[in-house]
Amino acid sequence: MAHHDQSPDAAGTMGPMARCRRGGAGPYGARVDTCPECGNGDVRVRVAAGVPIHECGLCGARFGDRTAIEALDDADEAVSRRIPAAVWPLVRALERLPGIFVRDAAAGDAAQSTLPFVVLAIAAADALLQLENLAKSLLLGAGALRRHWILEVEYQRNLTFVLKPRHGGGSVTPDQVRDAQTDLDTLRRHLERDVRLGWWRHAGGDAVG
Ligand SMILES: [Zn+2]
Repeated sequence: MAHHDQSPDAAGTMGPMARCRRGGAGPYGARVDTCPECGNGDVRVRVAAGVPIHECGLCGARFGDRTAIEALDDADEAVSRRIPAAVWPLVRALERLPGIFVRDAAAGDAAQSTLPFVVLAIAAADALLQLENLAKSLLLGAGALRRHWILEVEYQRNLTFVLKPRHGGGSVTPDQVRDAQTDLDTLRRHLERDVRLGWWRHAGGDAVG
């Protein structure tokens, strides 16, 4: 559960729910004008993806529709890690791979002529197997991608692997940016599909998961 910075007077303000004392049952069959986590009385209503949820003004606990809460937690995590929303679902899918973590990511920007990329690093040598599978997933999914995506090895202070569309040089066109951005979702779908397949899970002779 995400906890947020609270201004000192946050607990003293009256949120909408605090005024809404009709004695009704909340989504959990209990009154939601008091936080079930911390007992604080400052519970506000926030709308996430069109669905109202309740959020404690003191401890940040959220109550209500699970899917809406997950979407909100997810968006907050992307913001806190400074990962653009458009590349976040792919970043999250990549970080589910054992031993892989994301150092940096960009969603690309047509106005600035920049392409999206994700910088990956590995926690241990055996995570190389995950990168091998990722490279294989790129190859198998190439026909459905608009750009040719590669996994480029770089060494700065550590070994990193940059997932990005290949670019032959010259200026990046808005069409190239748009195509690469469309691919971000396709890449995520391919990855989420492939990690469940036998060739991924049994690569290297070890079952993962
Ligand atoms: Zn609370």
